[in-house]
Amino acid sequence: MSKIQMKTPLVEMDGDEMTRILWQQIKDELILPFVDLKTEYYDLGLPERERTKDAVTMEAALANKKYGVAVKCATITPNKQRVEEYNLSEMWKSPNGTIRAVLDGTVFRAPILIDSVKPAVRNWKKPITIARHAYGDVYKASEFRIEGEGKAELVFTDKAGKEHRQTIYDFECPGVLQGQYNKDTSIRAFAHSCFKYAIDTKQSLWFSTKDTISKQYDQTFKLIFEEIYNECYKETFEQMGIEYFYTLIDDAVARVIRSEGGFIWACKNYDGDVMSDMVSTAFGSLAMMTSVLVSPDGNYEYEAAHGTVTRHYYRYLKGEVTSTNPMATIFAWTGALRKRGELDELPELVAFADKLEKACIDTLNDGIMTKDLAGLVEEGTKVTSVNSVEFLKAIRAHMSCEC
Ligand code: NAP
Ligand code: MG
Repeated sequence: MSKIQMKTPLVEMDGDEMTRILWQQIKDELILPFVDLKTEYYDLGLPERERTKDAVTMEAALANKKYGVAVKCATITPNKQRVEEYNLSEMWKSPNGTIRAVLDGTVFRAPILIDSVKPAVRNWKKPITIARHAYGDVYKASEFRIEGEGKAELVFTDKAGKEHRQTIYDFECPGVLQGQYNKDTSIRAFAHSCFKYAIDTKQSLWFSTKDTISKQYDQTFKLIFEEIYNECYKETFEQMGIEYFYTLIDDAVARVIRSEGGFIWACKNYDGDVMSDMVSTAFGSLAMMTSVLVSPDGNYEYEAAHGTVTRHYYRYLKGEVTSTNPMATIFAWTGALRKRGELDELPELVAFADKLEKACIDTLNDGIMTKDLAGLVEEGTKVTSVNSVEFLKAIRAHMSCEC
């Protein structure tokens, strides 16, 4: 059988720990036998980030902008403990933060649903897609700890040199300070990609912030969305019978839980981070959540929403066989290959991505699954709980059979 040819390389961003192990196994078992894979490879594993003083992350992000489509493995975002563990010269920033700052845009996260795993929220019937703004706020904040008394102020110096000042707090004791920002251009791009994605996928769009408390910051988000909706999308939404509505984040949480799903929930950067973990866990497993970053100028970065699964990696290092779920990482690959196929007009590559995803779902529907899912299936479902390698081999077997 001849392999499927590609035209443009995918930007491949390798990562850390257990997901790095799965990354290679997925390629070997499920992709390389079928596709003459063309990638431009960037190693975003922590040792290479340390060696290059994190330059490799920026290079990878720029390559994503150049070629348009990237697939990324989960990576460690260093904290104090990681600095010691990996003997780092600096607490390198989150690679995702760096990539998002370069690409801008929105992260769309949607769960992969299977028949035998019912959501923890019984009334959820359809996927809920979280649209996470991927720029600024706490991810690009400046912050420091204050060791004693003093006055904290917010100062903005405009182009003419005029200072605008506001007291944040007159500290009488030690404390902490943080400065966040966002840009109208980025919020506009966020709004446009959400409205477009809603139209593409024929789903209603919900947007929530906390504008009653954050009367300037969050209010700006709300007003920009409202303006763009009225100017550009209202008519199409009405024609399609889908809706846009804004509500406070706490009200949104309550409504989401009571809903049956089947809509997009747009959230600011931090809210999107947290809510997507909540939604994916309630739908079954973090390992079943897909994620794509869509930039306003049409670049795509596909990844799994979960992390590097450290606890499994430590067991793997001890020689244990782990049952880590590779689904979201496989779907990152299929998402990226499908998009590359669409952009390069390669129907065989698109069909391959569809076929691989179907093989994954068929495998799960046959009851062959990793432990995280085996523990979640409905009573009475026949389950064969397997380790990661066995699971990949079962998917491969489903790829080969034309049933
Ligand atoms: P995590 O890697 O998502 O794992 C948390 C727990 O969730 C695991 O211990 C495991 O539970 C379960 N889990 C997650 N993915 C799974 C999978 N594919 N199969 C089976 N179980 C899975 O989160 P973390 O432990 O908080 O973070 C680990 C590292 O990942 C951190 O260094 C963090 O910086 C990084 N991280 C990276 C990204 C990214 O690159 N996008 C995102 C988040 C976190 P059990 O142990 O109970 O089986
Ligand atoms: Mg998160």
